[in-house]
Amino acid sequence: MSPTITEVDVYDIRFPTSEQLDGSDAMNPDPDYSAAYVVLRTDAPGGLAGYGLCFTIGRGNDVVAAAIRTLRPYVVGRAVDSVTGDLGAFYRLLTHDSQLRWLGPEKGVMHMAAGAVVNAAWDLAARQAGRPVWELLAGMTPEQIADLVDFRYLSDALTRDEALEILRRAEPGRAERAALLRREGYPAYTTEPGWLGYSDEKLTRLAKEAVDAGFRQIKLKVGADLDDDLRRMRLAREAVGPDIRIAVDANQRWDVQEAVDWMNALAPYDVYWIEEPTSPDDVLAHAAVRAAQPVRVATGEHVANRVVFKQLLQAGAVDFVQIDAARVGGVNENIAILLLAAKFGVPVCPHAGGVGLCEMVQHLSMFDFVAVSGTREDRIIEYVPHLHEHFTDPVVMENGAYRAPDAPGFSVRMVPESLADYRYPDGPVWTARQELAR
Ligand SMILES: [Mg+2]
Repeated sequence: MSPTITEVDVYDIRFPTSEQLDGSDAMNPDPDYSAAYVVLRTDAPGGLAGYGLCFTIGRGNDVVAAAIRTLRPYVVGRAVDSVTGDLGAFYRLLTHDSQLRWLGPEKGVMHMAAGAVVNAAWDLAARQAGRPVWELLAGMTPEQIADLVDFRYLSDALTRDEALEILRRAEPGRAERAALLRREGYPAYTTEPGWLGYSDEKLTRLAKEAVDAGFRQIKLKVGADLDDDLRRMRLAREAVGPDIRIAVDANQRWDVQEAVDWMNALAPYDVYWIEEPTSPDDVLAHAAVRAAQPVRVATGEHVANRVVFKQLLQAGAVDFVQIDAARVGGVNENIAILLLAAKFGVPVCPHAGGVGLCEMVQHLSMFDFVAVSGTREDRIIEYVPHLHEHFTDPVVMENGAYRAPDAPGFSVRMVPESLADYRYPDGPVWTARQELAR
């Protein structure tokens, strides 16, 4: 008999990162990196459980946690095998409760909450199978992978048959590419030097350290003050030399004309991409920015769902698709986005950082390389060196690349001490701060 999911535990975990200005950018000056963290408990022997999370930057983490709890009736009491044996159906179940769907549809807090539970179910399935998620996915047949995707709203750009064609095209060579991943890992870039709150000295030092550590690309936050950005860009370019790529990220700060003017000013420093120049919902504005200045356009970390990604691709609005493991409806919806990007021939360069985003999204890029796009050309995963110590299977960086994970699961289980210490508002890290403030 299959074991049963007995409980959905939800934790409000927050890290006081705003105190060091880690993660600071033009729109988010003082983030406290946080996780609405989910554990799917089971009665299987050995304490089998599934772990997932939704990343937020502090206030509102409790709102996501509450949204996750509304999904409890869909999870508790279910046979584990009925979930892990048909993750396509489980994903559709969670994203298509008609009353909860009203809050989106398929976007915002409720969708992110569903994504956290879907990802926890993937972690559970991978632990049950004794394999990392990327390997579990890359071992599926094209038909099994297509079954994970909800093609509703996509068929004007990508049909199930076209998805199957893409997946079948990538079938030869899967084993060789998986072996290559285990040898070389997957290329990464670092955003560590570029936080807006860092001094010029810190920017220069961290940019040099990034190159020494083997990274071939760095990223700077921009968009608060043009003179500051010109100076920081010049310092970064001097620090890394002409051969290292420098991308910039405006975190949605601009209107179209402002984006165009700003990027025309920065372009002489050889900018690799401009990320999130404007509102993530505004497909036409991205297309306009792309057409009116020379720097390639990237977006996606705040793109709500596969439908908006479809439009960005249809409109020729982006040069790079930036999936995020915890923004859309979990692994399943990200597979839809990987397939869309493959159809349009646009490289996927995931957003990561935050809490646990690097841990999760590496699996999706590795699956993409083995079984979808079949290439690492022009593809690179963001890396930020913060908060990895809170995970039992943290990412490993080697010579500017993510080492392929081999532990079973989605790499997103947090260590028990961190859950106890950083629980908001009653963990000791937070009660100590409340004492000080008093
Ligand atoms: Mg960004």
